[in-house]
Amino acid sequence: MEPTISIESGWKILEDMTINAYQTQQHVLVEILTQNLHTEYLSQFLNGHFDKEHFKTKVPVVDYEDIKPYIQRIANEEPSNIILAETVTALTRSSGTSAGQPKLMPLTDSELDRRTYGRCLISSVINKFVDGLDQGKRMQLLFVRPEIKAPSGLPTRSILTSYLISKNFEKHESSLHTSPIATILCSDSKQSMYCQMLSALLQRNEVVCVGSVFGSTLVQAIRFFEDHWKELCSNIRRGQLSAWISDTGCINSLSMILNKPNPELADLIEDICNAKSWEGIIKKLWPGTKCIDAIVTGSMAQYIPMLEFYCGGLPLVSKYYSSSEGLLGINLKPLSKPCDTCYTLVPSMAYFEFLPVHETNEEERSKKEVIEVVDLVNVKLGQCYELVVTTFIGLYRYKVGDILKVTGYHNNAPQFQFVRRKDAFLSIDSEKTAEDELAEGMLQAKLFVGQFQLQLVDYTSAVDISLIPGHYILFWELKMEGSSKSPELSPSIIEECCYIVEQSLNFVYRASRMGNSIGPLEIRVVKHGTFDALMDFSVSKGSSGSQYKTPRCIKLEEALKILNSRVVGRYFSQQLPGYKTLKWKLNKSM
Ligand code: AMP
Repeated sequence: MEPTISIESGWKILEDMTINAYQTQQHVLVEILTQNLHTEYLSQFLNGHFDKEHFKTKVPVVDYEDIKPYIQRIANEEPSNIILAETVTALTRSSGTSAGQPKLMPLTDSELDRRTYGRCLISSVINKFVDGLDQGKRMQLLFVRPEIKAPSGLPTRSILTSYLISKNFEKHESSLHTSPIATILCSDSKQSMYCQMLSALLQRNEVVCVGSVFGSTLVQAIRFFEDHWKELCSNIRRGQLSAWISDTGCINSLSMILNKPNPELADLIEDICNAKSWEGIIKKLWPGTKCIDAIVTGSMAQYIPMLEFYCGGLPLVSKYYSSSEGLLGINLKPLSKPCDTCYTLVPSMAYFEFLPVHETNEEERSKKEVIEVVDLVNVKLGQCYELVVTTFIGLYRYKVGDILKVTGYHNNAPQFQFVRRKDAFLSIDSEKTAEDELAEGMLQAKLFVGQFQLQLVDYTSAVDISLIPGHYILFWELKMEGSSKSPELSPSIIEECCYIVEQSLNFVYRASRMGNSIGPLEIRVVKHGTFDALMDFSVSKGSSGSQYKTPRCIKLEEALKILNSRVVGRYFSQQLPGYKTLKWKLNKSM
């Protein structure tokens, strides 16, 4: 069925759009402004004018905190036309957070259609570059996440969930996947993963592409497969689904493909899994696979070595750059190396503007310069920018929080490398934990250990993805009050600290913990003097001793070695962080 846009016409549309990037952007801006001119939000700035000049001079560049009151009013039952003319059908829950709570964006039916159209364009691009991809099925591990109702009754969910449960997915995409739609829509993530894996194994000869949205999910899936391959083989051998699968949608849809014993297939998979090494296992399990379709740019780049190991030389393709704010960019050279991946922002999806960012001495410079917001066609090669969008979903000159770097052009449209999330500090899955959130958790934990006459000398953090699921590590140097000696520690006290920190982390972190895509937080207690050694190391690398500040997140291998070589105790969170704060908190905290 898909692509509903053929390879040729998809590429032609993208060519036209990128040749006419300037004109397309002007057109998009006028369309958004004329549609929404009379909303409460825009009318206060534009006073009936919808020309670019007015827009640029009168409408302020904002971030989430500025629009939060408007979103809150929509969530609390006021008509959505306070910020956009179209009817809001849902609120999109972003993985970005504001004061620990997810950011919410309006969603409309036409936005969902726009995204579906974007996905069709993306498909036409990948089909153009990877031969034969339209000749088979995709093992694409996709999951819905639970939805919450806002006081207005509007469902609040992730954008992917909104798409997967929509008619658009069923009509345009679902038949291309090995996963029956019921297994994707199953709300129990373990049953969903098991049945999606089983479906893909049963259709192994048809699979041309393996993936998930982000690389982290694919790595988790491999870990899941390690634990379940024997059981999966036994199901295939007997032609019977495990009794613990209780979801009727999964049972019914699997019964169509798991309908007779298949000992040959079970033997073959067992042989592959019994091999000494699992290097290249994806290629062995699904021999027709032509590429791995999962985003491995940004924070996902940490999974590249693992995926390369399991994928046996298959290209790792990051097809697009997207967010709750909109489907933003397409990778027009999908077979380029992950480190060279760049995205062309699609000029018809939103009106794009850019705030220049100076990677060095950002604070210093921003004091001196009046920062000018530039248009898509005016960005400079090599320069980093923070992305600002004006969208069809009621975001006007809204800072997305992503830093992008201009690396080239496709026709007249600039291409961007994703550099980093502005405030993300630690990230394993889709969660983004900011430095101040961690600091808040540390404050609570410090107060707690204080009761036991323990003092925190210094701390830093890191992520450990060597085990799946990955987890956060905090390195702590402790001492007894009034003594420089390393204290005797009671494990239960430090384990409680792990839990205290986790509880104060954001919604998305805690939801990922509940869903087991992040493992229990660990505190590694280090020897007396460790943070002095860390400082000596930084100074030896050129930092100024007088200006030295302990980095609160460590990524550098050598620095991690210094910390790890001085660990005297390791403690893990023993409880899942509370679910109570995952409930609807809009009234109080937004
Ligand atoms: P969400 O709003 O929860 O969908 O998260 C969107 C964010 O995920 C973006 O703003 C980026 O920070 C990140 N993201 C999405 N796509 C990519 C990509 N292709 N490469 C790197 N980061 C990405």
